[in-house]
Amino acid sequence: MAGQEGIKPLKLLFTLLSVILLSALTVFSIALWDDVKTSQYDKLYKQNQTLISQSRSFFDHQTRLIVKTVQARFIDKKLQKRSVSNVFEYLLSATGEAAVFSLIDIKGKVLLSKGDINPPQLPSQNTVLENLKVSQTAQIGYLHRAGLLGESLLPFYVPILNKDKKIIAVVVAFYRVQGKSSLMQNFISPDNNTIWLLGELGQVRMSYPVPKGFVSDLFGWRLAQETASEIQYNLQSGKTKQGLELEVKGEQVLANVGYLPEYKLITLNSYPVAKLFSSWLERMRPIGIVFVLFLLAALLAYRVSLQISKRMSDAKQTAEGNVQKLSKAIEQSPDSVVITDNLWSIEYANSHFDLATAKPNAHDEARGHNIIDFPPYNVLTRDLKKISDEISLKGSWFGERKTDFDGKWYSFSISHITNPDDELTHYVVVVQDISSRKQAEAKLYKQANFDPLTGLPNRRRTNENLTRELQNAWKSKQQVAVLYLDIDNFKTVNDTFGHMIGDQLLQLVAGRLVKCCKGKAQICHISGDEFLVYATYDKIPEVESLADKILRNVEKPVLIEGKQIFISVSIGISCYPEDNNEVAGLIKFADIALFESKKDGRNRYSFFDHELDRRLKRRHTIETELRQALERGEIYMAYQSKNNIDTGHIMGFEALMRWNSSVLGPVGPFEFIEIAEEIGVINELGEFALRQACLDLIELQKFSDTPLIMAVNLSIRQLNDDSVIDMVDGVIKETGIDPSRLELEITESLLAENIEKLLPRLEKLLEFGTSLTIDDFGTGYSSLSYLTTFPVSTLKVDRAFVKDMVHNQGDATLTHTIITMAHALKMKVVAEGIEDEDQLAMLRDFGCDIGQGYLFSRPLIHKEMEILVETENLPNTRALNDSLT
Ligand code: C2E
Ligand code: CA
Ligand code: CA
Repeated sequence: MAGQEGIKPLKLLFTLLSVILLSALTVFSIALWDDVKTSQYDKLYKQNQTLISQSRSFFDHQTRLIVKTVQARFIDKKLQKRSVSNVFEYLLSATGEAAVFSLIDIKGKVLLSKGDINPPQLPSQNTVLENLKVSQTAQIGYLHRAGLLGESLLPFYVPILNKDKKIIAVVVAFYRVQGKSSLMQNFISPDNNTIWLLGELGQVRMSYPVPKGFVSDLFGWRLAQETASEIQYNLQSGKTKQGLELEVKGEQVLANVGYLPEYKLITLNSYPVAKLFSSWLERMRPIGIVFVLFLLAALLAYRVSLQISKRMSDAKQTAEGNVQKLSKAIEQSPDSVVITDNLWSIEYANSHFDLATAKPNAHDEARGHNIIDFPPYNVLTRDLKKISDEISLKGSWFGERKTDFDGKWYSFSISHITNPDDELTHYVVVVQDISSRKQAEAKLYKQANFDPLTGLPNRRRTNENLTRELQNAWKSKQQVAVLYLDIDNFKTVNDTFGHMIGDQLLQLVAGRLVKCCKGKAQICHISGDEFLVYATYDKIPEVESLADKILRNVEKPVLIEGKQIFISVSIGISCYPEDNNEVAGLIKFADIALFESKKDGRNRYSFFDHELDRRLKRRHTIETELRQALERGEIYMAYQSKNNIDTGHIMGFEALMRWNSSVLGPVGPFEFIEIAEEIGVINELGEFALRQACLDLIELQKFSDTPLIMAVNLSIRQLNDDSVIDMVDGVIKETGIDPSRLELEITESLLAENIEKLLPRLEKLLEFGTSLTIDDFGTGYSSLSYLTTFPVSTLKVDRAFVKDMVHNQGDATLTHTIITMAHALKMKVVAEGIEDEDQLAMLRDFGCDIGQGYLFSRPLIHKEMEILVETENLPNTRALNDSLT
């Protein structure tokens, strides 16, 4: 593998380094060992020299001493035994090392002994003595033991010669080899090395320090024969500086030997190799540590570099793998991939190029040709300059194009390749067939933005389109009219003819709208039966004529499945920027205007106006607030007096409802009664009014002697069902009011319209004993026939006539006629809204019975009305009245 090839030299380097280092260490350690050994040998040699000279001087001295002292005791070859004994005593005291001195004859017989212990037995076959006879010099004997368990002693034979140089006796000095005053005490080596004194044949004479188990060992060990002879040979040939390696008592030692020829004594000192080794080791240690550390460091470096190189090789391998995969991916890519030079000449194309171009083997033949020679790439022909510019600026270009020849969609993704100098060398062009995606997108777009039934833009789309339209209008300082259309009575059509017909109708209306708005306005289908049309305009009449045209075009009756259906639309219009400058606001205001059109009878258009908006909002608030007004105690009653026209006396009152809203403040009854009727709270309010009026009448009656009448307004809505009968009955019973004192006021116009339906209920109410007043008389229906069908007690002339009667002859005449007619029918007449004396005077002339108006009293709360009633007869009533109102 490529990676391992990279590792090989490294391994070799490391091994080589290790081998070199190891060899160096080995050479060094050997040299060091030699050095240690040599220096040890040197030391041993010097020691040995000392040992020799020490031994020599000891034995020489002993010899001289013995000879000198003993020889003198031989007088004429005759031994002076006693005298010798004295000498021995002296010698013993002078020589601490000596344990015994014996005098023997030449045959070995002991003549005399002196010492601390019994003299040891000398051997009968005494080779030492034989040698001594020959050499006539002092000899060192074999190690001796005094008795079986006695002390080990080294015998030293010193010949005593006469004048003729003949041996006359021999003195044997026995030296201690053990203990404090042992012989070797003098020869202590500086290093405490073991020293040996050996005989010529390697027999042990002495050893120091005394080995353990000395007795047996000392006798048992001797130098190997060959070693001994070698030593001897060497010594004889003058080689005194000898280094030896021996095994002494199982221990490997370095040794040096010296020779003391006079006494045939080999001196041997030794040093254990083990100890030498440890000192070598001691000196080797720092180097060893350095070496080991170095080796470890090298090993570490080796490992690390091994890892790095492995990683590098892995990365390289991955990269190589990636390149392989990449080329495979490009080859097998579902997209067509083309690489061109910087002039768009094809250098490479993958096999999908064939598919894109719809030419077999095109990717091979394309090489060298310009890319735009091939469809679908030719769609870029026009843009190529622009694309090149953009790529050189941004590095890439992306675009989607539809081809002319097969109508397919392709996405183009082009990026550049640059050389190290950042010069563009190649383009990589990736092309994908995105036709199916485009189709799906188009479908989705249609679903999201268009109404499936009419195919017109839906609300979502409308918002976007209209927003754009407003932006354009803002730029070009134009105005935009937004027309909100709603098919009239569409729900009824749907309910009557079914949804299928309903849908057909919608499609038909949409078609008509499209036809009549073509080139003039945009149409959208907002939802259900609602459409939105918008158009720019200069002057309002243009909008009006558009709205007219729409109304006219839609209006024509249609025949759907054999059924003739009349259709129409209502239109609400809002204008940009006059009414609002946002889409949502414009649509909302057009919708408000639409409401107005619907209210005004459909099949028409209305422009939005802000007053209308304000009114609608107020109405909405009233609706909400009114539902809670009663329980919040915001509703209360006011009373206006009804006075005798002639005398001015209070005859009774009209109960008028008041609402002091916590949100809107005081709201007039004209405004809220109508809404109360519409939202269905009039019944509760009416019941409250009736009950309160009855209760208050009972209170007011306490302040007057005249039987007073309370008139309560009854909404026509209250008469819509039978519950009103129980309600009135219940209140009468509950309050205990005399029903004949109760008067119900019903507005003329509404009553007349519904008289047939209401008559039975009215009759029931009258049966309780109450009376009936027709309110606002003269404004409503012309037919007065109903007046004869049931007993109306009073007519109340509308305020409008009273208001103008003084100056308007017509109103005066009408009022007069009403009064005359009423009287003819045995009815009384009340005139309301009397504000001045002229009106009063005229009414008095006409014979009117009762008057009501600010001239007599404003509507007052019942506490105030109590005062008015109580003070009525006082002379300054008018003034009081004024002060109260
Ligand atoms: P309405 O029944 O025709 O009541 C007479 C209205 O004329 C009252 O207005 C009264 O304040 C006003 N008025 C009286 N004298 C004069 C005058 O000299 N000059 C002028 N300019 N106005 C005068 P109000 O209180 O605003 O009531 C308006 C209408 O609300 C009533 O007209 C009645 O139709 C309705 N309404 C009031 N209270 C009730 C009620 O309790 N139940 C029902 N169903 N409707 C009520
Ligand atoms: Ca009234
Ligand atoms: Ca009235």
